[in-house]
Amino acid sequence: MTGFRELAGSVAIVTGGSRGIGLGISHALASAGAVVAVVARDEAAARDAVAGLEGDGHAAYSCDVADGKACRKVVASVTSAHGPVSVLVNNAGVTRDNILLRMRDEEWSRVIDTNLRGAFNMIRAATRGMMKRREGSIVNISSVIGLMGNAGQANYAASKAGLHGLTRSVAKELASRNVRCNAVAPGFIRTDMTAGLPEGQVAELKSRIPAGRLGEPEDVAGVVRFLAGPGAGYITGQIIAVDGGMAM
Ligand code: NAP
Repeated sequence: MTGFRELAGSVAIVTGGSRGIGLGISHALASAGAVVAVVARDEAAARDAVAGLEGDGHAAYSCDVADGKACRKVVASVTSAHGPVSVLVNNAGVTRDNILLRMRDEEWSRVIDTNLRGAFNMIRAATRGMMKRREGSIVNISSVIGLMGNAGQANYAASKAGLHGLTRSVAKELASRNVRCNAVAPGFIRTDMTAGLPEGQVAELKSRIPAGRLGEPEDVAGVVRFLAGPGAGYITGQIIAVDGGMAM
């Protein structure tokens, strides 16, 4: 792809960048000229993702974002290998759906620890450098479920609503240091996470999307690319739904 490479010279970390929405984001940031560090638990999958990115210098890192020490290590390794991190995309996320009365502690904790604590771990690890250099853009991938709630997803909805509070708080705390923090709340996007849903449920969901179609990872990635770059320099603390109008 040719065109304006607004992130040339920047180093970006994308958690969960090995597939789905995160892979789309990794491609979008690489196309914008960033060196991308793809983080996932499965290092081989992250390496495969890196191999397909435009440009040079991208690298794969294995890390469970729920582990704060591992997150600090990844940020330190990326910084010493590629230079200071100026873009952080917290995209890693999981679901463990269950109705409230049947939800096990493990299902609650795994989702909160990955989706919410994971973002906190990465933000805490990456922002010291951003604050010092007075430059940074953090994008958290939440969900319209964090705005709307959903039966059978109390853990997931709470984790994503928590991300909205985290986003606004980080935005307020770091704005004076020129570090921005926004969230993108996708609707129903075609990835592995949604691939297992029964056809009837997909049809029902689709009927609630004014745009009349499911989203693609690229629909989300374009907005993340914009928020990461200088064109969004005066935007912070926002939650932007990318959902074909589903959550209006
Ligand atoms: P996906 O296809 O299941 O991919 C998830 C990614 O996160 C993978 O790269 C996975 O790699 C990584 N990951 C999961 N747990 C991790 C952990 N503990 N540490 C590090 N990496 C981890 O999911 P997706 O559909 O692309 O979703 C991406 C994000 O968008 C999630 O936050 C999700 O909640 C959000 N979202 C998705 C939709 C949708 O409709 N698909 C809608 C709204 C929001 P490993 O398994 O190798 O770790």
